[in-house]
Amino acid sequence: MKEKRIKTKEGIKAVSKKRNGNGTSATLNCRTAKKCGGCRYRTETYREQLAEKQKLVYANLKPFCKVEEIIGMDNPYYYRNKVHAVFSYEKGQVISGTYKEGTHQVVPVEKCMIEDEKADEIVGTVRKLLRSFKIKTYDEDTGYGLFRHVLIRTGKATGQIMVVLVLSSPILPSKNNFVKALRKEHPEITTIVLNVNDKKTSMVLGEKETVLFGKGYIEDVLCGVRFRISSQSFYQINHTQTEILYRKAMEYAGLTGKERVVDAYCGIGTIGLIAAENAKEVISVELNKDAIKDAIYNAKANGIKNVRFYQNDAGKFMMQMAEQGVKADVVFMDPPRAGSDEAFLSSVVRLSPERIVYVSCNPVTLGRDLKYLTKKGYQVKKAQPVDMFPWSEHVETVALISK
Ligand code: SAH
Repeated sequence: MKEKRIKTKEGIKAVSKKRNGNGTSATLNCRTAKKCGGCRYRTETYREQLAEKQKLVYANLKPFCKVEEIIGMDNPYYYRNKVHAVFSYEKGQVISGTYKEGTHQVVPVEKCMIEDEKADEIVGTVRKLLRSFKIKTYDEDTGYGLFRHVLIRTGKATGQIMVVLVLSSPILPSKNNFVKALRKEHPEITTIVLNVNDKKTSMVLGEKETVLFGKGYIEDVLCGVRFRISSQSFYQINHTQTEILYRKAMEYAGLTGKERVVDAYCGIGTIGLIAAENAKEVISVELNKDAIKDAIYNAKANGIKNVRFYQNDAGKFMMQMAEQGVKADVVFMDPPRAGSDEAFLSSVVRLSPERIVYVSCNPVTLGRDLKYLTKKGYQVKKAQPVDMFPWSEHVETVALISK
C-alpha cells in the first residue's frame, strides 16, 4: 500500500522506527471494519495513524509545552483485554458482534483484529452453546428473549479469564450444564459471572450479579503490583501500553519517598498503589463503589499500608481537603473523557502541589484543563502521547505540570 505523504513537522516526528518499533508499516486488514465502524483508521498504515495522533495532541497542547514523540506498539493487534459482544438473531441464526456505529443494529463479528484472540474464541463457543441449549437471544425492540451480551476480561500477565453472561432475567435454563460445557471447551476460563440487566438501556451490565464459577473477579499485574478487577470496575484495556504510560507518569512525578500524594479518579487504585512505594502517603479518591472495594482489597493483598481510599466525587473531595487546609506535594489525576471540572481544578490550586501529573484520554479536555491551570500560576513542562488504542481515534497523553 502506498502511504500518504506525512507533511507536518510534528507528524514526521511520530513515525521513527526507533521509537515505534516494527509495527509502523502495519495495516488493519480487517474484513468487517467497514461495516462495524469501530476502527477509525481503516485505510492508513500504522505510522500514518501515529502521525495523525501526534498532530492531534500537538494541536491541543502547543500553547503550553513541548510534545514528545508518541509511543506506539510493536505489534498493534489483539491488544484489548476487555471484549464485549452483543447477541442477536438474524435469518434463523444466533449472531454476536458489535453495534454498528451510532445505531442499535448488530454487525456480526467472528474475529476482531484488536480484541484478545482467546476472548473471541470464547464468544464463538457461547454462540454455539446458545444453539445447542436452545436459548433465545434478547430482542431490544420487543424486550423478549433472554441472552443479551457477553463480556470477557483477561489478565494479560496472569492468564486469568472472566466471562460475564448478561441476561434479561436471573434464570438461565440448564445453568450447571451450560457452565460445564463452556468450561469443557475452555478450561482456561477462571471465573464465570451471571449479570442481570432487565432494563431497556444501552448500558451493557446491570446491577445484580451472581458468581457461577470461580472467584467472580480476575487479577492482573501492572508495574509489579497485583490488581483484582471485577466486572464493573474500570481497568485500562491495553496492558503493554498501560505499563509504558504509568512508568512515564511515575518518572514525571519524581517521587523521593517524602511526599504526600493524591491519586484522583483512582479506579481500582492502580496509579496510587504503584506510586506508594516511593511516597510517604497516598490519598486516593474514586466515585465508583465497586472500584473502591477492589482498590481497598488491592492495597491489602499487596501489603501496601500507606494508601487511604475515599469513595466520593473527586471535585467535592478535593474541595473538602482544601477547606481543611490539607496540603499535597504531588497530585495524579486521571479523569474520564470529559476531563476534570472547575471544583476539582480550583481545589488543586488551593492544595498547591509542587507537581501535577495529568493522565488524559482526551487531548481536547486536557488542553482545556491546562488552560485553567496555567492561568493560576502553573506551567506545563512536557507531555508524552502513548498510543493505547491502535486503529481507533483515541490517544492517551500524560502531562507534567509544575509550579
Ligand atoms: N486511574 C484509574 C482509572 C481511570 S478512569 C486507572 O488508571 O485505571 C477514570 C475513573 O474516574 C473511573 O474509575 C471513574 O469511575 C472515575 N470517575 C468518574 N467521574 C468521577 C468523579 N466525578 N469523581 C471521582 N471519580 C470519578
